[in-house]
Amino acid sequence: MTRYIFVIGGVMSGVGKGTATASIGKILQSKGYAVTAIKIDPYINVDAGTMNPIEHGEVFVTVDGDETDQDIGNYERFLDINITSINYMTTGRVYKTVIEKERNLEYGGRCVEVVPHVPEEVIRRIKTAGKEAHADFVLIEVGGTVGEYQNILFLEAARMMKIEAPKNVLFFLVSYFPIPSKLGEMKTKPTQYAVRTLNSAGIQPDFVLCRAERPLDEPRKRKLAVFCNMQDGDIISAPDVNHVYEVPINFENDDLGNKILKKFHLRPATKDLKDWRALVSVIKNVKKEVHIAVVGKYFSTGEFVLADSYISVIEAIKHAAWANKVKPVLTWLNSEDYEKHPAKLKELSKYDGMVVPGGFGTRGVEGIIKAIEYARIHKIPYFGLCYGMQLATVEFARHACGLKDAQTTEVDVKTKNPVIHIMPEQIKNVENKRYGGSMRLGAYDCWLEKGTLAREAYKENLISERHRHRYEFNNDYKDLFVKKGLIISGTNPQKNLVEIIELPKNKHPWFVGVQFHPEFQSRPLRPHPLFREFIKAALKK
Ligand code: GLN
Repeated sequence: MTRYIFVIGGVMSGVGKGTATASIGKILQSKGYAVTAIKIDPYINVDAGTMNPIEHGEVFVTVDGDETDQDIGNYERFLDINITSINYMTTGRVYKTVIEKERNLEYGGRCVEVVPHVPEEVIRRIKTAGKEAHADFVLIEVGGTVGEYQNILFLEAARMMKIEAPKNVLFFLVSYFPIPSKLGEMKTKPTQYAVRTLNSAGIQPDFVLCRAERPLDEPRKRKLAVFCNMQDGDIISAPDVNHVYEVPINFENDDLGNKILKKFHLRPATKDLKDWRALVSVIKNVKKEVHIAVVGKYFSTGEFVLADSYISVIEAIKHAAWANKVKPVLTWLNSEDYEKHPAKLKELSKYDGMVVPGGFGTRGVEGIIKAIEYARIHKIPYFGLCYGMQLATVEFARHACGLKDAQTTEVDVKTKNPVIHIMPEQIKNVENKRYGGSMRLGAYDCWLEKGTLAREAYKENLISERHRHRYEFNNDYKDLFVKKGLIISGTNPQKNLVEIIELPKNKHPWFVGVQFHPEFQSRPLRPHPLFREFIKAALKK
């Protein structure tokens, strides 16, 4: 039997609903249950691929090639599972299906209405996701906050599921408790209103997760419980922590796992988060630092926004650093600075390693190429992810093969040396303005050559990694590059596409570029082999 737990936000967004959802999943999983998690985004966008990452955060790519919200990445990292497309829905996606069904006469000539047909489609997706994952528990995070016009139909779906099977559905409200600086006192009133708003959607929360700077004290728990028709024990403190991976442990300190099981009339379980606790202890205790420069075109967005746009890259670096028992220190360097002031490139020598993450467009590209040249010549361990691999190819073409005008056609369509070019099927997509969901997306095989850094890291011949790009390495240049000393260490066997390039071990301590996004498969307890080896090389520097 599958049980469903809805996680709904109150008062304001951005208080860690995704982490809370992932953490609830983690503690249930640690008690021996199969768990999966769903994210509902109330946007009209059909997927996150067309949303601006600076505004919305990273686009997380699933194995089956869906472009989803960064919370899906949180779920994958916490639960160590692969999540597929059915677990991500937006308003646009739900409506699209309903309209397509109507066009196909699947409603048998009936009048198709917003209610019940739209919530019914939401419910169908939730149940299918549970079935496909063979899940005992399905967590469903409803984006936004209660009272927003945008998520009413999703709350309606949740309410309908509760009516259908009252014993199998639970509701969490994740709410924020401000402490106005002039008062110094925590206020519960906004949450009382949020609960009332949820009540008016026909839903009574079973638990309130209290996000605040500090834990909620007993008198306030009491007060909130009385006003919201709840028991004191169902009000769970969720104070700020230094690290997101501490959250499941905090919840367990409140015995949340067994409280949930009890509500579902399931036997309490004692299994503990043993490995997870060991990881958190490493995170808290590592002292030695590894300094990594992340070079890209950054707006004056501030680090806060960058942290959201590159969350999987940041997490992958952290996982790898902890596996090497060091503390990761990341610095964001704006490549445009190197275009204006090349002398600044020298600052790169301060770092133990350099990463160029994925990206799109023209701005800052020349600066990135300069930074890659610096890392290659000055033997700074280098890891290029997607665009970081493509631009490393351009750099090698220009400065090691003498093709001065080499470029990716993403930047210059007319370049005489298109070492990175667009695939024929992608040209058609762009010409016909088919932008949404049309890149090379999802997991593809990659064959690794013996004796290479890549093969030694993975310790396997054939691997699978996730992609999100339109442009590719141009095979016309392969022979020249190899003659000039570049190693092609990974190739897609089906389409003969170059997936990994590297420099020989006797020429550079560690220089690897990958056409895919390894960061999507890194997990806290299972760091990605390439990130792990990159950090190892950085530590040697
Ligand atoms: N802009 C490049 C492409 O589309 C790289 C994309 C990326 O880094 N994800 O191929």
